[in-house]
Amino acid sequence: MTASPVDILVTNGIVLTMDGAQRSIPNGAVAIRGDRIAAVGNAADLAGGSPGRVIDARGGIILPGLVNTHTHAAMTLFRGLADDLPLMTWLNEHIFPAEAALDHRRVYGGALLACAEMILSGTTTFCDMYLFEDAVARAAQSAGMRAVVGEVLFDFPSPAYGPIEQGFACTQTLIDTFRGDPRITIAVEPHSPYLCAPELLTRAFDLAGRNGLPLVIHLSETAGEVETIRDRYGRTPVGHLDALGLLAPNVLACHCVALSEEDIELLQRRRVKVSHNAESNMKLASGIAPVPRLLEAGVCVGLGTDGAASNNNLDLLLEMDTVAKLHKVQCLDPTVLDAAAVLRMATIDGARALGLGERIGSLEPGKQADLIVIDTHRPHLVPMYHPASQLVYAARGSDVAAVVIDGRLVMENGRILTFDVEQAMEEVTRIAETIARHRPIGAGRR
Ligand SMILES: [Zn+2]
Repeated sequence: MTASPVDILVTNGIVLTMDGAQRSIPNGAVAIRGDRIAAVGNAADLAGGSPGRVIDARGGIILPGLVNTHTHAAMTLFRGLADDLPLMTWLNEHIFPAEAALDHRRVYGGALLACAEMILSGTTTFCDMYLFEDAVARAAQSAGMRAVVGEVLFDFPSPAYGPIEQGFACTQTLIDTFRGDPRITIAVEPHSPYLCAPELLTRAFDLAGRNGLPLVIHLSETAGEVETIRDRYGRTPVGHLDALGLLAPNVLACHCVALSEEDIELLQRRRVKVSHNAESNMKLASGIAPVPRLLEAGVCVGLGTDGAASNNNLDLLLEMDTVAKLHKVQCLDPTVLDAAAVLRMATIDGARALGLGERIGSLEPGKQADLIVIDTHRPHLVPMYHPASQLVYAARGSDVAAVVIDGRLVMENGRILTFDVEQAMEEVTRIAETIARHRPIGAGRR
């Protein structure tokens, strides 16, 4: 080993590096010094020295932390509040009215609960779009998670900041407050082409470009959206953004369900990134994003759970299983989206989608130390011929045994070490009681 001792040695596991060569190391280990990965190799080779702490993977799988490229963390507050409804009814009559009662405290509570669920199921980075996003960033900080956060912007007054002018001021404050934060990245996040006028979109795009930040937007989520945007602007949602000059490599387009072949070519040519949210799209019956075609065209696609009100969990291991199977049945071809491809989407490609591909998403020396350990000593994970298959088709979030984020052990043996999960659950239960009591009936205001 090199000169100074390592802080954490994660050893005795199958290391799936997710690096460019897709290297896996059968009896491997990862050495962590400070917030970085110091070495990845054979357990025997990294055994020397006296690491500050040893995490024994017990023959399980060591892999990069999972990346959730699209969620609304605080929507855990509305998990199961209104199910089995069409997207617009769900949004206008249930979600938007319930969101009108939100404040910093409630969003913090919901987001912290989401962090608990994500950490426990192996997610180390999430990209969030919501109201009161400073509270989401604080929750991520309390939990020790990595996050990309942005205040949602739309044409009408927000329950968080009021008129849109203040939405831009709010985004600027987020940018100033979290500049230089090791784990928090601010994004500019206009909701969608159907809730944002071209002026808003252009201004948001300029703000993101000036500050070198990601721009996150819902795009082409349903055929209905395509129709609306065609009626208003005479183009598809993707074509509309392109006509405004707003498609660029820093844009993360979420959903992208209803795409034409020209749309796919545009996304590829402009190097736009896509977040695929299969379970949310299934639950809201939005449709199936043409992911095999996007990948074939060379578009970078990451996975997202979307919010807990439209999924209803934030478990990326379960999401991977759904994604792999959904596209097989859609294409009537069991060879599409194999386990390795889906695992890339949940790790390195998710990181690239967020503009973090140089820092996280794979286990390589010099990268930030974000990794998880899967306990495979369980009946449903025995035997193990192919680790990637096991992860995608057989494992679930509760199989995650340890989580390291930025070189810090945040979960071990199913216990979160950074905050009190019992308290987080109690807080959300309390908030939910007030939401149920004060819930406006049929208050579709938008
Ligand atoms: Zn969403």
